[in-house]
Amino acid sequence: GTRVPDAPALRREAAFVDGAWIAAERTITVTDPADGSVVGTVPDLGPEETGRAVDAAVRAQAQWKGVSAKARGAILRKWSDLMLGNAEALARLLTREQGKPLAEARGEVAYAAAFLEWFGEEARRINGETIPPPSPDRRLAVRRDPVGVVAAITPWNFPLAMLTRKAGPALAAGCTMVLKPSELTPFSALALAALGEEAGVPPGVFNVVTGQAGPIGDILTGDPRIAKFTFTGSTKVGKMLAARCMASVKRVSLELGGNAPFLVFDDADVDAAVDGALLAKFRNSGQTCVCANRFYVQDGIYEAFAERLAARVAGLVVGAGLAGPSDQGPLIDARAQRTCAAHVADAVAGGGRVLVGGRPGDGPGTFFAPTVIRDVAQGALLTREETFGPIAGLIRFTREDEAIALANATRAGLAGYVFTRDLDRSIRVTEALEYGMVGLNTGAISSEVAPFGGIKESGLGREGSRHGIDDYVELKLVCTAVA
Ligand code: ADP
Repeated sequence: GTRVPDAPALRREAAFVDGAWIAAERTITVTDPADGSVVGTVPDLGPEETGRAVDAAVRAQAQWKGVSAKARGAILRKWSDLMLGNAEALARLLTREQGKPLAEARGEVAYAAAFLEWFGEEARRINGETIPPPSPDRRLAVRRDPVGVVAAITPWNFPLAMLTRKAGPALAAGCTMVLKPSELTPFSALALAALGEEAGVPPGVFNVVTGQAGPIGDILTGDPRIAKFTFTGSTKVGKMLAARCMASVKRVSLELGGNAPFLVFDDADVDAAVDGALLAKFRNSGQTCVCANRFYVQDGIYEAFAERLAARVAGLVVGAGLAGPSDQGPLIDARAQRTCAAHVADAVAGGGRVLVGGRPGDGPGTFFAPTVIRDVAQGALLTREETFGPIAGLIRFTREDEAIALANATRAGLAGYVFTRDLDRSIRVTEALEYGMVGLNTGAISSEVAPFGGIKESGLGREGSRHGIDDYVELKLVCTAVA
């Protein structure tokens, strides 16, 4: 049933292991980035408790893989429904610990629930295959079996959705999971565990361990009983953890950083491009891995695009997500504010002109004014590093091949955006961009039905869509001799 907003029942100050809510002597304090106030505390679990969560996941896996696909799917569907039934409480908790405006938090609840629904449906379609044999006395059958126990580490920017797009396919396939959420936003994960429990997820199938990243990460990447490691976060940490997983040859899925180019050609619809830029750059205050990071704008449309984008950005309302209508919440922490300030200072030092914003907000929260900088030099810091904040830097270009070369000149390969109304150009450019996802005349590309993931150093594997199951199953050949 529907609970009242902010129901304390969903703010669990305990970790969830083997179907039990557990405490620890030491705790971690979670604060609200909008004002620094305390949201609550969660247990600071160590390697020992994490190992016990793995024990539970190993035991539960033997049972869970034998539950019918239909029954697993029904539990995931119920979990999704409970999320939607508690959407307001989940959204408020999410805004409180993460900072995003309430409207965006509501959107994330729906998006996150959709992964559980989608993979609940996919559970019954994890089909194997039979292969015409090489000789008449052979039969070849291929099963798609669950990989086993999955360890997951998720980030703070989408604390609900980054979790369900891993737990959904894992549980659908018959895997069990030990999850470590970001220490900055653990309450959303714990609320999901509470709803999962209510939905009938059996003890040990979905475990949430909270605490310091290092000691927990050591177990999650090192315990040989864990078959698969899935991570969403920074490229630096992801590479380091993936390397550790190789000691026990774990299956590894990674969703790492992007450095998304946003190309606007002379023949684009300038208003559509500005709308797309607002979505692709300023959603979640610029803190998404598919956020536009570099705007390459062609000579003929440059002035109009710069002027209209600056006007729209100047109208964005900055404020605490729960305090009233707000388009831009705080950044996650003071370090994020400093990165933004450094990217602005570097762009200005290289000749960029700030059209709007450009500085951190005052007051207790970690706000940063949404910013547009024109005439940014090619090679500026914000073209090389992920800003992860609300700063749009505009770089002018002349030729199509020049724009493509600039867009591809990075080791990242997650998302790219193109705005053009020329059919031939749209085909040439979308094909030439070296990215796992390309938005053509749109700044919004994510959905549970579409494969999300990067090429190059942006990751391994895909989440969402029917392909999202692939990372959680192993192919098993049964080759039979027939007399
Ligand atoms: P971001 O820059 O988005 O905060 P991180 O990669 O630092 O990205 O964080 C993503 C997730 O990785 C979080 O859950 C965080 O706690 C975890 N993490 C960070 N450092 C480590 C580590 N050394 N070992 C294990 N997990 C880590």
